[in-house]
Amino acid sequence: MKNIESLKEILQTPKKVAIVSHRNPDGDAIGSSLGLFHYLSRRGHDATVIFPSRYPLLFNYLPGMDYILVDDDYPDQTQKVCEEADVIFCLDFNSLARIDRIGEVIAAQDTPKVMIDHHLNPDEFAEYFYSDPTASSTCEMLYHFIRMMGDEKLVDKVIGECLYTGILTDTGSFSYSTSPTLYRTVADIYESGIDGTFVQNKIFNGQNEKQLRLLGYSITEAMRLYNNYNVGIIVLDMKDHRRFRIKRGDTEGIVNYILKMKNMRMAILMCERETCVKLSFRSKGAFSVQEICQKYFDGGGHRNASGGVSHDTIGNTIKKLKEIFETYREQLTAEPDY
Ligand code: 5GP
Ligand code: MN
Repeated sequence: MKNIESLKEILQTPKKVAIVSHRNPDGDAIGSSLGLFHYLSRRGHDATVIFPSRYPLLFNYLPGMDYILVDDDYPDQTQKVCEEADVIFCLDFNSLARIDRIGEVIAAQDTPKVMIDHHLNPDEFAEYFYSDPTASSTCEMLYHFIRMMGDEKLVDKVIGECLYTGILTDTGSFSYSTSPTLYRTVADIYESGIDGTFVQNKIFNGQNEKQLRLLGYSITEAMRLYNNYNVGIIVLDMKDHRRFRIKRGDTEGIVNYILKMKNMRMAILMCERETCVKLSFRSKGAFSVQEICQKYFDGGGHRNASGGVSHDTIGNTIKKLKEIFETYREQLTAEPDY
């Protein structure tokens, strides 16, 4: 971050701080927001975490979850927090347009804004702008941020477990987006006394029967393979949502199973919603699903993990996808680079 010294200056005295992350917050959004919340609290600031929508209960083991304000549920309170804040931190998203109503509220404030994020193609909406698309996660960046502030000694077990959560979820347990810097950062975080196995078990071994059966159904009945293009799609329509009483977070991770097949280069999960179809993309190697989401589905993310939306029916969306597969046939069927 270029102007870190002037931010240090601002944070020299106790401030009111709003910490905002993205809709449908994942482990990285939640871990980085709570990690920052605990860090700023230890520095004597009055911080509040805001998410546009509710979060998966899976992350309830992280201290501080009870204080989070959800904009969908308490719009008056979240607006007041943003209006009264001296500083607004924006974590794990790259454009105010990504966070709906609360993004408009934030855009209207003169308050200094700090963005810490690792998504591609960010909007430069913040005075204090820390973007690193090579970072595994916002949690990894937050550790570097705390170090830039000269406060790595303040990273204790609580902050450490928050940060480790986002690193684990955004790297799929160190399967991708890894680097020497990441492993060094994790070593430093481990020094704070975190229990890595405890966090692993909470995140990856905490499913209920319904979620596991939904995974089974997704693979045996809802998956279609397009072997000529090395692509697979899992479609969950409204009927499936009712049958499995699918809630926020229940479909997390399902899309990755398609890539377990050797030949699969791109995986897509389509979830039918009331007003749209939400798409989740994953890929292996150099093939960029970020490009596809940005070009065709009003979305984005990372090269190997992105999301977007379609305002057409499932049938028409699949038709459009098949045309896209044809456009990218050469890349999708080239010799693997991984
Ligand atoms: P997921 O498929 O797990 O929901 O999201 C994968 C990645 O793509 C995440 O980093 C997420 O922030 C990003 N992403 C998901 N949906 C959208 C979207 O609609 N627009 C943009 N710009 N990014 C998205
Ligand atoms: Mn992230």
